This record gives sequence, structure tokens and C-alpha cells, in this order.
Amino acid sequence: MPGFSGGLDEIAELPLTEKDELRATRTVDNPFGAHFCAEPGELVRIYSTSGTTGSPSYIPLTAGDLENWVTGSARSYAASGVQPGQRIVSTYNAGPFVAGAALASFDRIGLTHIPVGTGNTERLLQAIETLNPQAAVLTPSYAAYLAENADLRGSSVQRVLVAGEPGGGEPAFRARLEEGWGARVTEAMGIGDIGVSLWGECEEQDGMHLGARGFVHAELIDPENGAAIGLEDGASGELVLTHLQHRAAPLLRFRTRDHVVVKTAACPCGRTGPRIRCVGRTDDMLIVRGVNVFPSAIREVVGSFAPAVSGNVLVKPRTPGVKQDPPLPVAVELAPDGAVDAETIRARLREVLVVQTAVELVPWGTLRRSEYKSTLVER
Ligand SMILES: [Zn+2]
Repeated sequence: MPGFSGGLDEIAELPLTEKDELRATRTVDNPFGAHFCAEPGELVRIYSTSGTTGSPSYIPLTAGDLENWVTGSARSYAASGVQPGQRIVSTYNAGPFVAGAALASFDRIGLTHIPVGTGNTERLLQAIETLNPQAAVLTPSYAAYLAENADLRGSSVQRVLVAGEPGGGEPAFRARLEEGWGARVTEAMGIGDIGVSLWGECEEQDGMHLGARGFVHAELIDPENGAAIGLEDGASGELVLTHLQHRAAPLLRFRTRDHVVVKTAACPCGRTGPRIRCVGRTDDMLIVRGVNVFPSAIREVVGSFAPAVSGNVLVKPRTPGVKQDPPLPVAVELAPDGAVDAETIRARLREVLVVQTAVELVPWGTLRRSEYKSTLVER
């Protein structure tokens, strides 16, 4: 292309890469897709995505790729303040999934890692009680589930590291987790095709720093038209990531579908990487009479009514698809002895998110809890 020097300043001149494009180029001979560019014998690992939509994608890594993943993840998790020699209990089923590389980063930090896997609450509580870990890593939904169902305030856990879905950065949700665990909550985030735990929050709890700096280049775009948005303080848009050092299956301007807000002001922790907060998945977004609404943003606004509400919400679109006619029905669960006026919540949602909702208050315990990831929208 004329005048293109190949520098990152000009990267927005290049086309975006969509997940579907990767799928479309997979063949019997090349199950990874056309972006695979290593020799098959160089691979040390092939992870799978969880395949919630369609068949799983395979993610190949060379030894160098895996090394960089673990390094970036270790930086992100170390930002939380966990120290070498401390114990961390993890609840991810690594198995075929990229989370395995995140777990390897605990060894790199020098932590004593206690893996207990997913969906075994009894084993987890037993491990916390017996082995006294200083940290626990889990999804925010599972952290909330445990805080409701167990008395953790007196436990040894001082740091709860959450990842796997948005939520850990929502002030009201975070406050609920910190109250329930008697611990500090920080979040981390990655995306399988690019890398695990690319981002991790420091003790300032003011957004996740780019731990994978030097391995990954971050950009923002307008999800509607793909136009580049400058990485300036307060900017928001869809996160687009480019591999800088990846060998096996490098991606250029990959659309993550994560909608984020950027913070670039100096962080007192001294880390200079840009920070983000994930507002939600572009895939979960609804458009109510022209207004973009993320279910997680609804949860955040509703959460500000705690302790009257439990913090659990369920958005119930009346029609399939993204576009919705107002009012958008939202079930809001009350706390055990909570009392609040539905109209007050409706007015606050209208004020903050500029969306017309129909708020229905439901009693404590009505909405389903998750031991993995939450569903905020009833489809
Ligand atoms: Zn910081």
C-alpha cells in the first residue's frame, strides 16, 4: 500500500481480522486456519477453545509462544500483589483450555499453587480451611456464589483474583465480593486466540494493566463501523489486538468483541502500561431504540442499590436479536431483607444508561446462581 512504512502508528490502515475468518480458512490439512505459519513439528502445545459457539478452535503454540504467554500472564497476576512463597488456590479446569498457561504463570511468580478444579465447592472450602492459601483465583460469578454460600470472611484468603468474564471491575459487584470474602478483589483478562491473562489489575484497582506489553499491541475501534479510536484517557470501544512476537498463529488486528474503557493517567503503582476496564462483550450488547446497552452495565447500576438488592439481575429481551423496543424488561433480585422501589431503580437506569426499562423486583434466591460464568440475558 502506498506510503505505508509498516510501523504500529499506521496499523489502522490494515484490515481487521474476525474470528469467523479464522474458522472459514480451516481445512482437513490445516485445522488451525490460514494464519498458521510454523512448522508442525515446532509446536509444543495445541489448546482448544471451549467451543460455546460451533466446533472448538485449535490454538497452536511454539515453545517461544508459550513462554511469552506465561511471562505476560505472570506479569498480569503478579500486579495483584501476590508474593512469591504465598499459596494460591485455583478453580479452573485447565485440561484442553488456554487457562493451563495461566496456571503455569503461578509457578513463574513463585507461588505455591493448589489446583482444585471447577465445580467442587466442598474440595475448595476444604483446601482453604486446611492449607490456608493467601489468594484464590476464580470467575467473579463463582466468587459471588461462594460468598453467598460460605462464611469466608475469617478465612486466610486476602486476595481474590477474578477472571474469565467481566464483573470484577464493576464497583458494586466488587464491593459485594470484597465484603463477602473479607479480601481484596482484582481482575485479569485475556482472549484465547491472542493469549491468556493479557491484562491484570494492580492494587490500585483502577483498571487492568497490559501485562503482555511487548507481546501484544492494543487498539480500540468503533464496533459499528470499525473506525480507529485513539487510546486516550476515557476512550471506549471494542478492543483490537495484534501479536507482536507470536510465531505459530499470529493475528493482525484481531477483533476481541470485548468492549472496554481505557485509562492512561499515571498509575501510582508505577506500571506504565495502559489500563482497561471491560464493560461487556459486544456479543451481549442490546440496542434499545438506538441506545447501546450492556447487560453488565445494567447490573452495575442496579448494584448501586445494595444493600437493598442482592446484585443479581436478569435482562429479559421480549424479542430475539439485538434490537429491542423499549421498555426493556429487567428482573432485579432483592437482598434477603431488602426493600426498594422499582420505579427508583428504573429512573436511575434511565438517568445513567439512557435506557427505558421495565423493572420487576423478585425475591431473594429467585435468580439462578452460577458456579462458573453468569448469564445476564435470558435468550
Ligand atoms: Zn497500577
